[in-house]
Amino acid sequence: MDTVGWTADRNGDGFVDDIAPRLVINPPRGMVDRDFCARLIDLAARLGLETHALTLPFAVVAGMARTDDRPDLTVATAGDLPVLPAPTALGDERIGNLGEPSSCLTDLFTIRGALADTDGDLLPDMTRLTFDLPVEMPASFAAALANFAARVGLETGGVTLPLAREGGSRFVVRPGMGPSRLTAKDGGWLAEGDAIELANLLDRVAGEWPHLAAPECGGVGQSLARLRRWLAGDGPEPNDPGAVVWEREWEADWEVDGAVAAIAELPNDALDGRRLVVFASEPPDIRRELEERLVADLGSRGIDIDIVVLSAFKAGLSWLREVVTPALVALPTPPARVQIAYRRMAEVNTLDMPIRWLQELFPGPELMAAELGIDPGAIEMVEAGDDTPATFVADAFDAEGASLGRWTCTPPWRAQPFVPALGDEPGRVVVTTGGVMAADGDSWRELARVPTDLETFWEFWQGVVVPDLLRLVEEAGARAVSQPFFGELLAEVWVSEPNERLGVREENDSAAEALAEDIYFTTLDAIELFGQRQTGDTLSAPGAIVPIVRVSPGAAPRARVTLRAAPSRPSLPYPDLRVAELRLDGNHLAMSIVATVDGDPAATLARLQQLATMELTDGRDSIAARVVLNDTTVDLTLPLTSPLVSGPLSPGPRPSMTANLHGDAIVEMAESLATAPEVTAWIEDWSYQSRPIPALSLAAPCEGRLRSPLKAAILKPTYLIVARHHANEISSTNAAFQLAWLCANEPHWRRYLDAVNIVILPYENPDGAALHAMLASFPESQTWKHHPARYNALGFEYGADHLNPDSRFGEARARGSLWRRWLPDVVVDNHGVPSHEWVQPFAGYGSPPRFRVSYWIVQALLYGIASYLDDPDAPEQRASVDALRDAVSAKVRDSDIGDWNRVYGASYRAWGQSREPERFPGAFHDDMLWHVAALEPGSPYRGFHLLYPRTTALSWITEVNDETAEGEHLERVARAHLLANEATLDLLVAAASPPEARAIDHGDGATTWRIGRQRPLLVRG
Ligand SMILES: [Zn+2]
Repeated sequence: MDTVGWTADRNGDGFVDDIAPRLVINPPRGMVDRDFCARLIDLAARLGLETHALTLPFAVVAGMARTDDRPDLTVATAGDLPVLPAPTALGDERIGNLGEPSSCLTDLFTIRGALADTDGDLLPDMTRLTFDLPVEMPASFAAALANFAARVGLETGGVTLPLAREGGSRFVVRPGMGPSRLTAKDGGWLAEGDAIELANLLDRVAGEWPHLAAPECGGVGQSLARLRRWLAGDGPEPNDPGAVVWEREWEADWEVDGAVAAIAELPNDALDGRRLVVFASEPPDIRRELEERLVADLGSRGIDIDIVVLSAFKAGLSWLREVVTPALVALPTPPARVQIAYRRMAEVNTLDMPIRWLQELFPGPELMAAELGIDPGAIEMVEAGDDTPATFVADAFDAEGASLGRWTCTPPWRAQPFVPALGDEPGRVVVTTGGVMAADGDSWRELARVPTDLETFWEFWQGVVVPDLLRLVEEAGARAVSQPFFGELLAEVWVSEPNERLGVREENDSAAEALAEDIYFTTLDAIELFGQRQTGDTLSAPGAIVPIVRVSPGAAPRARVTLRAAPSRPSLPYPDLRVAELRLDGNHLAMSIVATVDGDPAATLARLQQLATMELTDGRDSIAARVVLNDTTVDLTLPLTSPLVSGPLSPGPRPSMTANLHGDAIVEMAESLATAPEVTAWIEDWSYQSRPIPALSLAAPCEGRLRSPLKAAILKPTYLIVARHHANEISSTNAAFQLAWLCANEPHWRRYLDAVNIVILPYENPDGAALHAMLASFPESQTWKHHPARYNALGFEYGADHLNPDSRFGEARARGSLWRRWLPDVVVDNHGVPSHEWVQPFAGYGSPPRFRVSYWIVQALLYGIASYLDDPDAPEQRASVDALRDAVSAKVRDSDIGDWNRVYGASYRAWGQSREPERFPGAFHDDMLWHVAALEPGSPYRGFHLLYPRTTALSWITEVNDETAEGEHLERVARAHLLANEATLDLLVAAASPPEARAIDHGDGATTWRIGRQRPLLVRG
């Protein structure tokens, strides 16, 4: 439609973002009749429809002071109003049954209120409200109605005109006597009271309801949701852990002393003429000392025997590095070929993979090749035949194929239940143990067993601590609703264990790290398995499990375990709350909330009265609320989310790509970014442990105007970026802040905002991040994986709660609430995986059994996970995934990220995918690894594109190996997320199309005028 001169694009992005003139209403006698008013509000709504931002007031009465440089257009009668031309393509369909609107005024400008969605994409495409106007009204009142109608148009992709007609949901306007108020009632709305004051009220509603602060923030809807949770007993009191339930101290003899004693007890004839291989889970220098001591001890017994002490943790690697490699280095010429054969793991009912013994060797061949100066391809790893004499056999050959030597190794091992308290049913695990082996050529014989420190600790953990926990769970009924069962289980453990970086990529050899991982996951798994057995419930939020494993070389193992009670809180029913009325309280909007609760309301009322005595606001924006429950009225002041106050308007510093971002730095960073006009930042929600969860929106600036984020999303493709879901996957926060900074400061990135809206949740899991920062604060553990910081403060994978507005976890609510406000076309979840090998010696050696596939080995520096609905009638999702995969892979291929991907990819194939393809899945596309799944409609996965395919075309996941990256590697993995997001933004720009205008003739005198673009978005390369 031709609205040249009526609308403006003030920020130059090609989209209308203001109504150009100010409308000055100057009728004879100062009064406007019904027909004039009706045409006025239709014009206002039509112009509001054209734009995603506008300057209010749009309509004023003559004599109002000017506040900006919009030209005035003065109208005196209905005849002065222009008739806007209609779009050419006219559809034809009846207005269907749009249903009753919500009786809560926070829904007023949504599809649950004045607007309606007829095609199921959740975006408004019609209006439901119709005006019932008075015969005559003061000009200022008509102006207020016009402003209100402009706001209605602003918030929707369709307005149904004329607004003043029969049918629809009535917005009854009754200026008259008495206090002014806007009430939701009888399936519609009633605006009544003194005309001048009511005009003021409607102007305020048009300009600032329900956000009051910035429209990007959640507004009164969030406040109401918080009050509802508070009334149920979920906050605002903090969820601090309760008193100490018990504390246990544990200590044991050091395995090194055990090995010395075991050998002292061996009779001399058992030691005669053989080579002794001792296995102890100790760092290399302690094992060298042990060797010297054993040589001396045996020497004093007159025994001269070869002794080597290998590590019982990753014994295969220890043998390769400390026996085979030195022997090969000592050869006159390097071998042309080395073959390492490993025994297939044949133990039944074990969680270990058949390649269990191969895993022990990782990444030995690479280290060996480097040390020998030979091509890594000259070393091959093969599964041994059934007749293999030892667990590991290494053969070296010269260029002619002649043997240069053979070395063998058989580490001692045993099998035990995964969770001993639950018997063998959940499976068994193979554990390499310590001890003394006699090696004679190919023949290996066990002389003594000496449990490692890890094993003695594990016996205590599984034999004492886990049964104690399961008793606690049982006493609480073993029901999901009774969670958390405890506030915190703190395990402080001191062990003398290997913990060294290997010098190849980010790989390490750390039994201490492995123990921390085992404590965390196996304890969570034990409780979950117990719940399934006892009640069938999934007990996935039992409480915080915090293992702090300290490496104390040369000391006997010890531990202190402290269990604290769950936070105590009232548990009341969730009431139903609705904002039933708005009024002016001085110069502020105030509201009345009607609360209803099932059953006896006495406890809820007492809670309400208790809340009224508490300071609920943080001293910033707030709104007065009068809550009516049964016949009792209680006055409260509720907090409101406002934009983070930015400092001086100078560009903030560029966010770090090499620092682990956490704590106060997060909100400071968001504040600093918000100094740019492109960035709005606010606190979207608070975590279970009351930490702020900031959100950012990036858009071409519309300063000084009322913005509609959802309308911006109706017009431009919208990208929601979620970072730090799992808090030990740290680099996504760096990448998210970096992207925001670039969009505000670098022309190349800034141009994306002309075509696309970006919404960022940079720090979804602050409680996990706080725990991660603590766990990574010790010098020996800075680069560990730290999975205890993966889930939330109760050990809960809170992704399950993303769409539950009543979730007691703010970290779960934030993503859903952002999604509902912006209805993004594409959602990305920037995740991470271990930066190095994931070993859990008590859980089947690799990643724990809760994961269907194995994360034992790094798959890539960056890989992608995507899925699509496998629906032949709607092939668009599949095409979108293909386009995404092509674009991201191509972008990565020629970068250093691509080079790293090729290195990791070769390792992933050699060690995992070529041997156990089901546990190491994925397909390489243009050198980049992808996990793409075709899902049946109704599949249990909860991606936005699966649940709301009409709204969100694509939601996908990036994974980088950042658990826990530091320095250069952190920069690299953060940049990998950034690169993937850049490729996605390129796709969104390519998919963006100018909004199309259309009109639908309903055949009864009503017409819906629409503006919008294709939903779901077609993502094409
Ligand atoms: Zn993750």
